[in-house]
Amino acid sequence: MTKVLIVGGGPAGMAAALALSQANVETEIVEASDDWRPGGIGLALQSAPQRATMQLGIYDELRRVGRRHDVIDMCGPDGRLVAQMPQININGPDDAPLLGMARESIHDVMVAAVERAGVPVRLGTTIADLDDGDGGASVTFTDGTTGEYDWIVGADGAHSALRARLLPDAPPLSPAGQSIWRAAAICPPGLEHYTMMLGGPIRLGLVPLPDGRLYLWMLDSESGGERPPRDEILDVFRAKPARFGGFAPAVIEQLTDAAQIDFRALTYVLVPPPWHAGHVLLIGDAVHTTTPHISYGAGLALEDAVVLGELAPAGLPFEQMATELESRRFERARLVVETSLQLSRWEQSADGPPDPSAPGRLIGQTLAALSQPL
Ligand SMILES: Cc1cc2nc3c(=O)[nH]c(=O)nc-3n(C[C@H](O)[C@H](O)[C@H](O)COP(=O)(O)OP(=O)(O)OC[C@H]3O[C@@H](n4cnc5c(N)ncnc54)[C@H](O)[C@@H]3O)c2cc1C
Repeated sequence: MTKVLIVGGGPAGMAAALALSQANVETEIVEASDDWRPGGIGLALQSAPQRATMQLGIYDELRRVGRRHDVIDMCGPDGRLVAQMPQININGPDDAPLLGMARESIHDVMVAAVERAGVPVRLGTTIADLDDGDGGASVTFTDGTTGEYDWIVGADGAHSALRARLLPDAPPLSPAGQSIWRAAAICPPGLEHYTMMLGGPIRLGLVPLPDGRLYLWMLDSESGGERPPRDEILDVFRAKPARFGGFAPAVIEQLTDAAQIDFRALTYVLVPPPWHAGHVLLIGDAVHTTTPHISYGAGLALEDAVVLGELAPAGLPFEQMATELESRRFERARLVVETSLQLSRWEQSADGPPDPSAPGRLIGQTLAALSQPL
């Protein structure tokens, strides 16, 4: 039986474990963090990545922990509805066009599925040394143990140590120039739809989640990616959405402690193939980190894993399997990263997009292209 080590227990690593288990490949995961919790607050899954979760066998559970959104309400800074953006559903008529959920929820669903699949997970552990030979890879772990593997899946995220080690000529993770603020809150009564409010250099998203919860994100083209000092972060945060009306004040007034606020400078990287070296193949954010403008980064990671699960049983030599995966995945990854970056640049430029409908058009064209089979 083929034996594969997965490095990283995020969406890409866990999805790879599920897809490879379905393909009768023996896997184990090492996750560097002792405290295996997801970063961030909420997540939106587009329709095409939901299709990937159907193949991974976790869709029904995600539907249970997610909230369906059929439209996004686009509002002015005063909260008045300007337009409604219908969301694309490429699955069955009863399936959700967009699924909003807490990061904890998707993490818990995936952890439970990995457990059910019998995949061993070692926390607080990573690769200390790697000896890649003709027949496979010999690994020494940071806990002093060793293992022999036919190949390795590197799913260690945007700051991938494996990318740095194996693909030294890959482009570096780069700042996109924007920042994002995120927080969890209670959903104010009456707020039913995913709502976006546009106010100059700030774009606010209010995403109702199940059980009366809400995920707030605020894209910020003013801060230039500079994290405010710790003792100022709450005041800086609260001042920004003060320009918004509608449901915004009822959410912002709940955020009174700096510990509730997550600030992050947005970054991106798009690694041109190869995504593999020796017997190690990188997937997920390790090779394509995107800004979140079309909510598709985790979607790409899940799709990478599904394609890996489709290729693994063919019994191809590793090099051929990895090359095949790269050729099936690179264009989709490029589309997501470059579209998201274009949207980010329009938001940051004094001139804005070439015409006001250009962002919506670009998003629609991109999601339509991504709805094609993997
Ligand atoms: C602000 C923001 C909002 C987003 N919103 C959305 C959204 O709405 N929808 C969407 O689809 N995507 C979204 N994304 C993108 C999504 O979060 C990522 O694309 C996704 O998490 C990538 O999964 P991954 O498993 O490749 O990497 P990660 O989620 O980063 O997981 C990597 C894992 O590897 C572990 N690790 C790291 N180094 C090592 C090591 N050396 N050894 C072992 N383990 C290691 C880490 O601890 C982590 O658990 C958003 C991203 C950002 C920044």
